[in-house]
Amino acid sequence: MMWKKILLFGVSGAALLTVGILVGHFGISQDSSPAWVNEVSQDVDEALIEQFIKEVDNKNIEQNLKTLASDPHMATTPGDEKLVKFMLDRWKDPNTGLDETWRQTYKVFLSFPDMNKPNCFTVVSPTDTIQYTSRLKEKAYTEDQNDPEVVQPYAAYAPAGHPKGKLVYANQGKVSDYEFLNKTIDLTGTIAIVRYGGAGRADKAINGARFGVAGVLVYTDPADINDGKMSDANETYPHSWYLPPSGAERGSFNGYFGDLLTPYYAAKEHTYRMPVSDITGIPPIATQPIGFEDAYALICKLDGDEAPAVWQGSFNCTYKLGPGFSNTSAFANSDVQVNVYNKGEMKDSANVMGVIRGSVEPDRYVIYGNHRDSWVHGAIDPSSGTAVMLEITRVLGKMVKEGKWRPRRSIIFGSWGAEEFGLIGSTEYAEEYYSKLRDRTIAYINVDISVFANATLRAQGSPAAQSVIFTAAKQVKTPGSQTTSVYDNWIRYSNRSSPSYGIIPSLGYLTGAGSDYAAFMHYLGITSMDIAYTYDRSKTKARIYPAYHTAYDTFDYTSKYIDPGFTSHQTVARTAGNVLLRLADSLVIPFNPSDYAETVEQYYSTAAESFTDKMSTMGISLEPLNTAVKRFREATSFLNQQIHNSDMAKETPLKIRRINDQLMFLDRAFLDPMAFPDKYHYRHVIWTSRSSGVATFPGLADAFAKADNSGLKSDWEQVEKHLTIVIQALEGAASTLEAVI
Ligand SMILES: [Zn+2]
Repeated sequence: MMWKKILLFGVSGAALLTVGILVGHFGISQDSSPAWVNEVSQDVDEALIEQFIKEVDNKNIEQNLKTLASDPHMATTPGDEKLVKFMLDRWKDPNTGLDETWRQTYKVFLSFPDMNKPNCFTVVSPTDTIQYTSRLKEKAYTEDQNDPEVVQPYAAYAPAGHPKGKLVYANQGKVSDYEFLNKTIDLTGTIAIVRYGGAGRADKAINGARFGVAGVLVYTDPADINDGKMSDANETYPHSWYLPPSGAERGSFNGYFGDLLTPYYAAKEHTYRMPVSDITGIPPIATQPIGFEDAYALICKLDGDEAPAVWQGSFNCTYKLGPGFSNTSAFANSDVQVNVYNKGEMKDSANVMGVIRGSVEPDRYVIYGNHRDSWVHGAIDPSSGTAVMLEITRVLGKMVKEGKWRPRRSIIFGSWGAEEFGLIGSTEYAEEYYSKLRDRTIAYINVDISVFANATLRAQGSPAAQSVIFTAAKQVKTPGSQTTSVYDNWIRYSNRSSPSYGIIPSLGYLTGAGSDYAAFMHYLGITSMDIAYTYDRSKTKARIYPAYHTAYDTFDYTSKYIDPGFTSHQTVARTAGNVLLRLADSLVIPFNPSDYAETVEQYYSTAAESFTDKMSTMGISLEPLNTAVKRFREATSFLNQQIHNSDMAKETPLKIRRINDQLMFLDRAFLDPMAFPDKYHYRHVIWTSRSSGVATFPGLADAFAKADNSGLKSDWEQVEKHLTIVIQALEGAASTLEAVI
């Protein structure tokens, strides 16, 4: 107001002209301050969120999912292209679309089987007679499995090859499993059969090759996915959600994420590509996934010592180690040959992007995404997430088109391509817009598989986002209840004791690279989260929903066994959309840095418990880490006081922006590009992947495990180095929250 008087009564004609323009442009509100004053201090509108929750419709989600899962749509196939157009059409809709939408393409390295020469294994007698050939495709129970576009099971990025040798059973293909076998069996030239779980897909083959294994077969044991059920006469799909005997989990056998030929650079036409022969982290030997029906035919005929108790699965026989088959079996003296015909191909893969422009802070982004590509029909993975995303964009798009709402900050939607091959579309996007996203992004919300099962919410994310997820979960009702909130239901299934709050739902961490949040969380340091509905763990031990990455992940399967009525989908849409609206519209970004401090303190006490004794004998003190943790806690409290001790709606826009920048950059402060030189794209000191079983600062935990094992001086030096890395990250993060100068 004061400045306006000065202008009004100023002498310069130019000043008067300026005022004329200002007044004309902004208009004058009742208290004669410019209109933007109100707009700039506007906070999230609770009535609007209630309206959003009301309008999210389960029938629409069901219809979306039916369309999305109607054809197989593996990355870059005609089915995928059809969905690119479908997404563009939806987001261009004049009544419910977004402000802008476009396709963004990258040239990426993928891997496919040969449709004319299906991969398989054979059992070959000493006289070269083929005694058994594995199934070439999964058995059809509905028309879906007969679609000619159903890709046969294969291990993407496993090389072509035809190794033949004696069969051994190698449990889960972990290093320790092969070490155990290697004590009594010469593994050179053997074929290993391993079950899913325990180790990454690629690692099962990489580890085996280190011991001389020549080929790998991977299957899912009914103990790990079907609660032991095996019969398709009455137990497995189509009679239940359990995996039929011929079902085989496809997947990318690739230990890194992003396009394999262009790490750190967006895979454009002109981008430098490393030679294919330089790729690491993929199987060096032929590898093939098979159904448990074929695995049963092999495992129950094995010779040799009994496998350890924890290696036994659900088959009605004692699992033996091999090598080779028992003399009394039909396969006595026979070898197993693995036949793989995969080949690498360069393909154009599209992301579909869409935006709703922000009104007050258009240069601050909240990103919401999911991949679009599947292995087969992909009803659950990923269409359950995309069906939810499309319902969210329909409701928000309609409010924008009707002029009822525009977010404070910009919202970017991403329908990522080629996720199944290694999170490629999202990672290339993160690489291409590295600077812009690093400087302007508030948060990334990932909803991939939105419903694993219909029991409870499962949320994973940076602790900074815990409070906004809780707020949303308290406001949304759990399916089938008028009174129980998602939060109250969640706390029954999964909870922990928090020093600050008592018993609260347990928010998981994003320490791996399971979906498209990876590039945002680990590489860009953007506060990220992943939201879904999931299992009642007292009812099933399945390691994932049983049709995962098979030809049975269809609309029929979803609507009968995963979420009849689609109310869990609706609940995820309401919860994730609620979080999105709060992040986009709140005056002060709804992150609570003190929740981060709680996690860091928990990490510290675990490290102190597990490492202090040994470290002190090595002359290494954890005290400087303790000091850094305390400083970080104090800094988070200081910032929270700044926020809660003043009426932010009356603060100047510059102060709010300053605090919001501190909140936005909190996760970014933990990035250290030099901390993990062996791990592509992993730079977040708190969340990088961890091999050690000790749940604490991952670099420190892994360095400690290695040094404790080897006893080498050079390894203990790495412990000291990682201690410094964590201390500096914590002190650095604390300093961004303390008084500005
Ligand atoms: Zn997925």
